Amino acid sequence: MRERYWFRVWTDRVVDIVPPSLGDEKVRGVKDVRIERQSPLFAELAKRNQSTHAGILTAWGVKRSYTRSEIEAAKFFWLRVKRHVGAFGEDYGTTYDDSRACVRCGGRAVRVGRLRLPCRVLPKRADVAVSLAGELVTSVKFEHIWSAAGLTGLSFQDIEAPSGEACSSHRSPIFVGAPADISSVTDIRDNPLARLGVICPTCNREDVLGMAVVSHLTLKRTDALHNDAVATRQLVGLRQGSIRPTPLYIISRRAHSVLTDAGLVGADFEVAAIE
Ligand SMILES: [Zn+2]
Repeated sequence: MRERYWFRVWTDRVVDIVPPSLGDEKVRGVKDVRIERQSPLFAELAKRNQSTHAGILTAWGVKRSYTRSEIEAAKFFWLRVKRHVGAFGEDYGTTYDDSRACVRCGGRAVRVGRLRLPCRVLPKRADVAVSLAGELVTSVKFEHIWSAAGLTGLSFQDIEAPSGEACSSHRSPIFVGAPADISSVTDIRDNPLARLGVICPTCNREDVLGMAVVSHLTLKRTDALHNDAVATRQLVGLRQGSIRPTPLYIISRRAHSVLTDAGLVGADFEVAAIE
């Protein structure tokens, strides 16, 4: 696996550690720096970020690429949804039971009844997408492919438009099996340069692990992984209005090849390691 990070940093806050020749200053005052995790500069940037009031970062990303043999050897994949539905379910009558949710971070709220969204906001060409609140939707084509291949772990519910009718293009997938567990070796924090913090003092890194998965994902070896799709028990993210912490979605090697062969639109995959 090759792991390349990019950091958009305030140029003046790193001027002494990032040489002028390194990075791209497309916008005056901020610079995009691309580096590998093993680079000594990575550790230096982390140190500077943690010692600078308000930090040095304005944005970041990471791209992991795998060799063919790494993909062939992988047993599980992390489904990373890239397409978005520009709406929140709660604005259209989707209801959550907050009585079991954490009062601080909103983790563990359970949806009550159907996902409600206007059909027109569902992305026509995407087979998988996620709403601004983290609500997952899959196309009718996705459901057909999944069922025809005899894949397990998902059932599909109607998405209900405010008029009461079911949307014909997409469905709401429900994870029917036991959840998988994220291994503690997975690095989850606000960003790759941040100090390891406790995102929610109430959950204390048990259920709600942090803002973002910054390393590659490792799962604990559990029986839950016999299904072709599982969600993780632990959540990532923070409650901000209608945005809630969400699980990560894991699929089997078989589901990966079925979905890849079908030309799935709206997500990409990373290898999920098993500890
Ligand atoms: Zn919490």
